[in-house]
Amino acid sequence: MPQQKGWDFTHMINVAIDGPSGAGKSSISREAARRLGFVYVDTGAMYRAAALYVMQHRIDPDDAEKVGSILPMLDIELKYEDGEQKVYLCGENVSRVIRTREVTRCAPIVSAIPKVRQCLSDMQQEIARKNNIIMDGRDIGTVVLPHAEVKIFLTASPEVRAQRRYKELIEKGMEADYEIVLADIKERDYFDTHKPISPLRPAKDSIMIDTSEIDFEQSVQLVVDTIRNKLDARA
Ligand code: C5P
Repeated sequence: MPQQKGWDFTHMINVAIDGPSGAGKSSISREAARRLGFVYVDTGAMYRAAALYVMQHRIDPDDAEKVGSILPMLDIELKYEDGEQKVYLCGENVSRVIRTREVTRCAPIVSAIPKVRQCLSDMQQEIARKNNIIMDGRDIGTVVLPHAEVKIFLTASPEVRAQRRYKELIEKGMEADYEIVLADIKERDYFDTHKPISPLRPAKDSIMIDTSEIDFEQSVQLVVDTIRNKLDARA
């Protein structure tokens, strides 16, 4: 059960964490959620699963109409096994394959399609209605959960983000080249901030946290303290 000491809200508590690729959003949000007793929702994983689905159907990700036509059959489920979020696509555990470079490159293209965003936003809002959550993504504070109690924009320099992503891939036993990872991050930043629909930008009422100069533990503590302070002030 969530540790809601004094946070006597009549509805579920929603925390939105947005920011660019590789800012540490997922790992920081996951650990912050664990400490607060909230459910962690990784929306990037949902867009990655949608991209994989498009790839499995051999559909050109730029073909918005064809992509839209297969969305009614899209079945994404987030399950929690041993405290870890696992992503299931049409009943199959795809948690690992959605992290490959091919899927990583396809996800921003698919995520720029309005029907895809609508479909996944609906799923995300449904999860947020039923749980105390920390949800991370690109448009959570601006579009998906505009009334979230706490909104955080988590960022770091492109070089720091590339270094972290590179380390993460190596630790997972995947092949990686730092320069390629950095180029991919810059390309995704451009794509995410220039999307005609739901471009990446901080919500007006979000709190900015830059993790370039602080380590993982300090980042988690800062995020947890920020959430606690904001909720205490509203309780
Ligand atoms: O966060 P992650 O890097 O796993 O997200 C994969 C891709 O999904 C991003 O590059 C971004 O284009 C897209 N995305 C999105 N909206 C979100 C989360 C992710 O467009 N809320």
